Amino acid sequence: MRRFVYCKVVLTTSLVWVLVDVFLLLYFSECNKCDNKKDHSLLPALRAVMSRTHVAPGEMGKAVVIPKDEQEKMKELFKINQFNLMASDMIALNRSLPDVRLDGCKTKTYPDDLPNTSIVIVFHNEAWSTLLRTIHSILLVDDASERDFLKKKLEHHVATLEVPMRILRMEQRSGLIRARLRGAAATRGQVITFLDAHCECTVGWLEPLLARIKEDRRAVVCPIIDVISDETFEYMAGSDMTYGGFNWKLNFRWYPVPQREMDRRKGDRTLPVRTPTMAGGLFSIDRTYFEEIGTYDSGMDIWGGENLEMSFRIWQCGGSLEIVTCSHVGHVFRKATPYSFPGGTGQVINKNNRRLAEVWMDEFKDFFYIISPGVVRVDYGDVSSRKALRESLKCKPFSWYLENIYPDSQIPRRYYSLGEIRNVETNQCVDNMGRKENEKVFSYTADKEIRTDDLCLDASRLNGPVVMLKCHHMKGNQMFEYDAERLTLLHVNSNQCLDMPSEEDKMVPTLRDCSGRRSQQWILRNMTLSV
Ligand code: UDP
Ligand code: MN
Repeated sequence: MRRFVYCKVVLTTSLVWVLVDVFLLLYFSECNKCDNKKDHSLLPALRAVMSRTHVAPGEMGKAVVIPKDEQEKMKELFKINQFNLMASDMIALNRSLPDVRLDGCKTKTYPDDLPNTSIVIVFHNEAWSTLLRTIHSILLVDDASERDFLKKKLEHHVATLEVPMRILRMEQRSGLIRARLRGAAATRGQVITFLDAHCECTVGWLEPLLARIKEDRRAVVCPIIDVISDETFEYMAGSDMTYGGFNWKLNFRWYPVPQREMDRRKGDRTLPVRTPTMAGGLFSIDRTYFEEIGTYDSGMDIWGGENLEMSFRIWQCGGSLEIVTCSHVGHVFRKATPYSFPGGTGQVINKNNRRLAEVWMDEFKDFFYIISPGVVRVDYGDVSSRKALRESLKCKPFSWYLENIYPDSQIPRRYYSLGEIRNVETNQCVDNMGRKENEKVFSYTADKEIRTDDLCLDASRLNGPVVMLKCHHMKGNQMFEYDAERLTLLHVNSNQCLDMPSEEDKMVPTLRDCSGRRSQQWILRNMTLSV
């Protein structure tokens, strides 16, 4: 099975793999004690799975099911990395994976003279098996028998690989941003490819990325990120129909690729998707362009915000950010972070987000601050050099980005109100029940939607209640017309007005025939920052 994988992959990537130059960035970190014991402790589980399936666990990306009597131990081990370490350790370092590409991708050919790339993988307290699987899936080396841990053992291990690889060690914990900067500074390849330390690359993943950069050096390209289950390590193909966005709190989110982007590509799903933002962990960029465009903001700590910062910067300063749908790389998505954030998670992320808002978002930073009032109290340090960068690159305003690159953004580029929607008769506010904060902050947008973040007020039947549904940008049931004199909110589709709920409506505002009653009058607040 393994030899089969090796041959298959080498055939399709032989153009580039010998040019690959790999760097690993390590932090000084405690060895993972449980990892060291795994050779002995795993045997019973491994035997049980193998006897049931007759093949090595996880081959062809299959889920690993841990036998009942091992599940106690499995749960213990899960806590170390916030993924199923026991399953990961049972899977071969170069396990086989399905070819999940669109059919149209499998027959594409690429130029012989693709640029070469250095691959930078930063990591902090990564598990041995996931880290090694990342390296092996890039380097295609067939010596899976090595079973020891980071540091010296790792150095010995990489010295046996057929592709030159260096390990750089940070003197102190610096966060992924500064670690990547260190790695990037040490690269020599024409392209830099960044990967997380728990990835698995699939057949033909690299050529389409490099080919796109060869076409346009200002294209920054991401693969489709496939999902490796944190529970079972099952490999699941990611969709070519989602792209990157962000919500009101500047959290990165996946959203459906809009029709305009399908139309631009004339329906050819094998062509790269222009994406407003990237997830951040996995992408390739021309090395000189990476420098030209201002690398990363080295004032950002540990984790978070750097992906949006880079996304805004690329678009606003003349580059493009794309998902190359013919390239698939798997990533272990976790529900919680396994490592500590010196200074506190919230503090770190808020600081990073403030830096990106202050430098790139112009007046729209106020929108973010209204939504996340706590952020305004966080010290974000000095951003003058980043502002100078923006100046010298003559970058476009954030409103241009919203208008041209992300018209379906959750943050409306024009809006009439932001804040409470208050009923004149009862003095009560529309409330998005169930959300912890900001449950009464709504925006009435120029597109005539009443939204809070990515949810819109939606009404689908006469005299019926309104509900909060994902905004669809198609007006229809989500279009309301505000009459600033009569203070009414007319639901255009039904020609009815938003009214206060009656007893039997269970507190949910409802559509009724427009009557001019005070219960149909609403005051839309235009909130300003109060700090
Ligand atoms: N990382 C790092 N230093 C840190 C935090 C993270 O080197 O202080 C590495 C981490 O090991 C991983 C990459 O940065 O390879 C991205 O982090 P993570 O996978 O936790 O982010 P996620 O994929 O969950 O967004
Ligand atoms: Mn990750």
